[in-house]
Amino acid sequence: MQIYQPVIAANGGIRPTWAEVNLTRLSQNLQAIRTHVTPAKVMIVVKANAYGHGLAEVARHLSPQADYVGVAVLEEGIFLREMGVTAPILVLGGIWGDQIPQYLQHDLTLTASSVERLEQIDAVAGQMGLKAKVHLKIDTGMERIGVHYYSAHTIQETALRCSNVIVEGIFSHFANADARDLTHARLQLERFDKVLQFYETRSLPMPIRHMANSAAILQLPESHFDMVRPGILLYGVYPFADAPRSVLVHPALSWKSRVVYFKVVQPGHPVSYGSTWQADHPVRIITLPVGYGDGYFRSLSNRTWVIIRGRKYPQVGRVCMDQMMVNIEADSAFNGDEVTLIGESNSEAVTAQDLADWAGTIPYEILTNINTRVPRVYFTEANT
Ligand SMILES: *Cc1c(COP(=O)(O)O)cnc(C)c1O
Repeated sequence: MQIYQPVIAANGGIRPTWAEVNLTRLSQNLQAIRTHVTPAKVMIVVKANAYGHGLAEVARHLSPQADYVGVAVLEEGIFLREMGVTAPILVLGGIWGDQIPQYLQHDLTLTASSVERLEQIDAVAGQMGLKAKVHLKIDTGMERIGVHYYSAHTIQETALRCSNVIVEGIFSHFANADARDLTHARLQLERFDKVLQFYETRSLPMPIRHMANSAAILQLPESHFDMVRPGILLYGVYPFADAPRSVLVHPALSWKSRVVYFKVVQPGHPVSYGSTWQADHPVRIITLPVGYGDGYFRSLSNRTWVIIRGRKYPQVGRVCMDQMMVNIEADSAFNGDEVTLIGESNSEAVTAQDLADWAGTIPYEILTNINTRVPRVYFTEANT
């Protein structure tokens, strides 16, 4: 049997719309990934508020179990250092030149995505009397940031001359690791392999090589190299609907709300803005205190389902900024009843992938949009 131990107590003041994050599941997901990729190391990607799960608590819990921590922007890295995270942190995004001193002050690893940036890092580190840890970013087919694979030797050679820079790692990023046809992903892999030959042919020490995001962890074992960079998989969500389940993970986040209003709506009385929905018979309609202002997309209006007392019910009428309505037909629900927006209840489930499908997007966008107005409640599972 499992008991829940709240890490942050949900005291009486909590808003009746909240997200629960199961920290034990995060650890289990990380362990499952680790087992699958071993001996490769694992960088946990916690950008964008840890994919909506809450940066501070996720990092506090998970960073001691990780080999490396990945964030997108400098400010996320500084936040982690200020809260006491001691694990190595790589800022994956491109750097803004004026901010280089801050990376060094906070012992953050920089992404060097061009020769000019690398030289700039070297110069600033020299002025500050420090050594900068960098990972070289190679563009093998994403066309976002990084030195093109066909001119990668320019940054690799420059790095050899930069005395204030330690090239700890070298990495690339897949554009199509989530595709069924992996031709382009394999081409990117081949290009990256060629770039790495630079070190072999000169008998230079090989930096930490990394390339695999969640999709590549699942379907491209040859891309695991020395380290992998899982984001969405860590949170227990597969990067695309029919992703191979080569690593078994379970969602860490549930999104919940409560019934705050109940009424019977008569035929000819449409519900919500724009009067987009009405019944042809009297129905019981409940109101939930959650809306697009919390990240429950308006594009989900009239398309989505919630779970109450283990049963699924359709959301009806337009989703408002702060509230939305659900049709429970002739069933009963009471003020205060728990409502699951994302998660499982009895044998029913609504997943981030479901919401993504209904909204025409990907689960990443669903999770990262659950905003700060929604309190997060953390718990761990203990076996008794
Ligand atoms: C966001 C990100 C990842 C993680 O991607 P997932 O698909 O969530 O695993 C890995 N690498 C880089 C460079 C990223 O920006």
